[in-house]
Amino acid sequence: MTDKACRECHRISHGSACPKCKTATLSDDFTGLVIIFDLKGSAIAHAMKVEEKGRYALRVR
Ligand SMILES: [Zn+2]
Repeated sequence: MTDKACRECHRISHGSACPKCKTATLSDDFTGLVIIFDLKGSAIAHAMKVEEKGRYALRVR
């Protein structure tokens, strides 16, 4: 399966719907990949308002 990024929260997943938003607003056209593994220590997680560990796209079209 190809990776797809959620347009709402930028989370990257393999399925047909975002595991966080439960929506199908996914796009395979995204740039940048951020892996968040430390929520409290990550400025990126804070800036992106990420609340869960995982892989996120920087930009989703
Ligand atoms: Zn989402």
